[in-house]
Amino acid sequence: MHRQHGRENGRLVGKVAIVPGGGNGIGRAISTWMAEEGAAIAIVDLDKDAGQELADTLTKSGSQAISAACDATKEDQVADIIAMLAERFGRVEVLVNNAGIEGVNKPTHELALSEWEAAMAVNATAVFLCTKHAVPQLKRAGGGSVINISSIFGLVGGGDIPPYHASKGAVRLMSKNDALIYAGDNVRVNSIHPGFIFTSMVHRYVTDSGLDFDAAKPALDAAHPLGGTGEPDDIAWGAVYLASDQARWATGAELVIDGGYTAR
Ligand code: NAD
Repeated sequence: MHRQHGRENGRLVGKVAIVPGGGNGIGRAISTWMAEEGAAIAIVDLDKDAGQELADTLTKSGSQAISAACDATKEDQVADIIAMLAERFGRVEVLVNNAGIEGVNKPTHELALSEWEAAMAVNATAVFLCTKHAVPQLKRAGGGSVINISSIFGLVGGGDIPPYHASKGAVRLMSKNDALIYAGDNVRVNSIHPGFIFTSMVHRYVTDSGLDFDAAKPALDAAHPLGGTGEPDDIAWGAVYLASDQARWATGAELVIDGGYTAR
């Protein structure tokens, strides 16, 4: 992580952000940079150890951060944890729906219903559940920002992982529709569409697809006109912007951060 900016920037001072899937990869960078910008952060992740380790690191560097173990596909857990966090922090202004999985990489006609449902549960249903339970808190705070992490594969096809595409496409339209539903409450809802970032999710995707990592990397680099795959920080700065008051007039937008992948 490149720490070239300090807390003096303070674009999120006074805001409380909940980040499902905030313990690793892109969510970890989002949590880190939002904390650097002054937000209090709640890392909500299935991976309890990663969430706790990050919360400890952020707390040591002077931020307010806590970790809560949660399966974001389970409504009772989501409801309890969001209520607990709102009580603990006093309010919630930002929700970053970042938890996601790549799902099984098979053509549609070979997919089991359970494989389809597993990806839809994390990538789409959990976005619904976290939004459902966070929105009343955002409204209570007088407004806020929901940031849904979709993908380039919510915009274009990659010719593989069908449930991933379906779920990420759903998230794109959920964002626009929720933007309309909640505009009158000053709750903004936007999606971010990252290109390839070599997190553990992409490592799993490459391995599970039977590809050799060293061969796959140059091919993926070449698919991004700016000259390579991205870094989690590249996405985190977009999330910081959408969470900040500088984005006060941005809602229903799809922020594409993909090194030019979808520009063709
Ligand atoms: P990652 O695997 O590194 O991190 C995902 C995090 O989500 C992990 O901490 C994991 O524990 C958590 N998580 C998974 N299921 C969960 C659940 N049910 N409840 C709570 N937490 C859960 O993946 P990443 O690459 O950082 O992906 C983050 C988001 O960005 C995902 O939504 C992904 O689809 C999206 N995305 C990633 C890329 C990429 O190239 N890495 C590109 C486009 C979009």
